[in-house]
Amino acid sequence: MNIGILAVQGAFIEHEKMLDSLGISYFEIRKKTDLCQKMDGLILPGGESTVMGKLLHELGLFEVLKHKIEEGLPVLATCAGLILLAEKLTNDEKVYFATLPVTVKRNAYGRQLGSFHIDSEVKYVGIEPLTFIRAPYIENVTEGVEVLALVNDKIAGVKYKNQIGLAFHPEVTESPRIHEYFIKICKEQMA
Ligand code: GLN
Repeated sequence: MNIGILAVQGAFIEHEKMLDSLGISYFEIRKKTDLCQKMDGLILPGGESTVMGKLLHELGLFEVLKHKIEEGLPVLATCAGLILLAEKLTNDEKVYFATLPVTVKRNAYGRQLGSFHIDSEVKYVGIEPLTFIRAPYIENVTEGVEVLALVNDKIAGVKYKNQIGLAFHPEVTESPRIHEYFIKICKEQMA
């Protein structure tokens, strides 16, 4: 089991610490040759989606990663990572991988309300501490997209085939359960 973590910008170290605590091996994705190794799952961290999107293209990572996602590589995308996966963005003309058929609103809570913490239910996982940081939310989902988390009537987590998109940051909490759930999916895919 080896998980690739996109490490060009943003909060990738927190995901690494979480995988360390679970004893799961991983590698950082910073350049094209990093993608030569075996990858059983991909983590797209939070950060700044516009910067990450630009770097993905500049570093020649974009096409290879998009292809792997389309082929069924399990993906855990948090916050800016969710924005990278979304097929449509309400308040941005650009889209990135566009492999997740949802509409996402960036910085959706406004500047003052964008960062908050709440305990809420995540399907398949249970009640979890959820941390939102300048968070997006999911405005619309198309058929086949499963809602994993609803927070204050807004969709904050979805699953579609091999892709999990979360508006919040499970990597900054003490609870490893969302990462454990993701690793379970990666193992099932390997079997
Ligand atoms: N607001 C950021 C963006 O639009 C996402 C914030 C985050 O990842 N914590 O990319």
